[in-house]
Amino acid sequence: MQTTAQAELSSFELVRHYFHLAADELALQDDLRDVLLRPYREVQVAIPMRLRDGRIRTFSGYRVQHNGARGPFKGGVRFHPEVDLDEFRALAGLMTWKTAIAGIPFGGAKGGIDCDPRLLDAAELEKLTRAYMQRIDKVLGPTRDIPAPDVNTNAQVMAWMMDEYGKGHGYTPAIVTGKPIALEGSYGREAATARGLVYLFREAAPTVNLVPSEATVAIQGFGNVGSWVGRLMQQLGARVIAVSDATGSIRAERGLDTGALAAYVRGGGRLAEYEADGVEAIGGEEFLATPCDVFVPAALGGMIHASNVHLLDCRLLLEGANGPTTPQADLALQERGVFIVPDVMANAGGVVVSYFEWVQNLQHFRWDEREVNERLGTIMRRAYREVSERAARKPGTSLRVAAFSLGIERVVEAARLRGNF
Ligand code: GLU
Repeated sequence: MQTTAQAELSSFELVRHYFHLAADELALQDDLRDVLLRPYREVQVAIPMRLRDGRIRTFSGYRVQHNGARGPFKGGVRFHPEVDLDEFRALAGLMTWKTAIAGIPFGGAKGGIDCDPRLLDAAELEKLTRAYMQRIDKVLGPTRDIPAPDVNTNAQVMAWMMDEYGKGHGYTPAIVTGKPIALEGSYGREAATARGLVYLFREAAPTVNLVPSEATVAIQGFGNVGSWVGRLMQQLGARVIAVSDATGSIRAERGLDTGALAAYVRGGGRLAEYEADGVEAIGGEEFLATPCDVFVPAALGGMIHASNVHLLDCRLLLEGANGPTTPQADLALQERGVFIVPDVMANAGGVVVSYFEWVQNLQHFRWDEREVNERLGTIMRRAYREVSERAARKPGTSLRVAAFSLGIERVVEAARLRGNF
């Protein structure tokens, strides 16, 4: 998917590019690269649906299972008008590396529907979700493939998916993660991706001489990840001075009240029209150029690219979105000394707490939120330590290349031991 006119690479090419950089480091042979890049299974389904206005619209649904050497396939479900098979291939691959880097026993998958949920009412969204679940049901299962929320999907969507699956298989909460608390969802899952990012921010801050409680933060995208990063950063004492989303951008030098902003957006308010003391609306370029310590891309892929990277004025890039930075932008930032904590490691908190949810569901037992958050912290810090140690072995190695190569190495080891090739 090209999210901006200037984006120079699709997500598919972007992930392949980073994969090959790491594969070069590992001196991986071409035949092995081919095995690792190729998804295990790709499902594409047609979902015809009669809309309110009487017309029939046929949506496309997808589920790509990339690699299952380390465990059941795992990854989110995305509802977005511009998704296509190539994008899901890329995102499924990212999940394979992400779960391996985090050291949790899952493979990688991703799926979704090419719909714009803003144009559907709740009844249509439910119908579409259930029809999608019916069509991909055969390739899913708590020991096969476990979906979760992603862009434009949430706990309610997961509840419908679980219910639909249950019709044929009986009550199976472990079939999806990111469910509502009332349906065996896990405490802490909703904020988990953001909490993981903030844990890693605290680990990375000393590298760029930052004191977390004194940092200034700009957040691109204010959905689940962006809005929780805002709130958790603020809890830490950091100042969130600029936020943007698809409707526009705002800035507040003295810092935004991100809790109030999250409530406003959740209530259907447009970010660009948000009014509060000291808050001003700004243009998209001005937003990107806001001087800050930490810039958090938490929107779609490819948003930081060759044509806008020169605007960024930060010391640390904390990637909340999947694939937000194109290779050209990645290089430009590194040359300017910006420290990048890459998506495959930085945003793993979501799938890590999904793992906890799955474990709890298999035992029909519940952990309290403190336990979830503590265990999440342990896993995120371990991943950061392992990736940084690997990067330090060869000066000049980025955390991205080190993270990918750690993930690839673990998947290759598991596949070899199983005799997969
Ligand atoms: N959609 C999230 C991701 O991209 C979470 C996936 C999951 O929990 O399975 O990492």
